[in-house]
Amino acid sequence: MSEYISKWQREAIAQRANGCCEYCLMPERFSLFTFHIDHVISLKHGGITHLDNLAYCCGICNSNKGTDLGTFLNNPETIIRFFNPRTDQWLDHFELIEGMIHHHTIIGEATIKIFKFNEVERILERKLLMEGGFIGSFK
Ligand SMILES: [Zn+2]
Repeated sequence: MSEYISKWQREAIAQRANGCCEYCLMPERFSLFTFHIDHVISLKHGGITHLDNLAYCCGICNSNKGTDLGTFLNNPETIIRFFNPRTDQWLDHFELIEGMIHHHTIIGEATIKIFKFNEVERILERKLLMEGGFIGSFK
């Protein structure tokens, strides 16, 4: 689902994110594709088109997330919400080690699962960018 986002809003969102996907940390300048503006809470679920609900997002993360807000992990009766870049701190939920994103919380685990952060190609790409100093080595 899409809603008009002005050029000004898009630039402000990209700048706030330092040109990187706010979920998987991929820098846009190393991507073949233009990044997307994600509604953290999708329009389908009542989210609005406002800076407080928008995130800079690579196409892979945006495609994997879709309009979802969370997923099931081990308990089929409990939905675990995804990481919210507007209200959560990345390092509280994740850790980046040699290109692989590890989780600290169930929110991180749910996000990694559905966003498919750790597909082999994505790990290798992230590892190369880390080695080149283009993605921070968070610990
Ligand atoms: Zn991403």
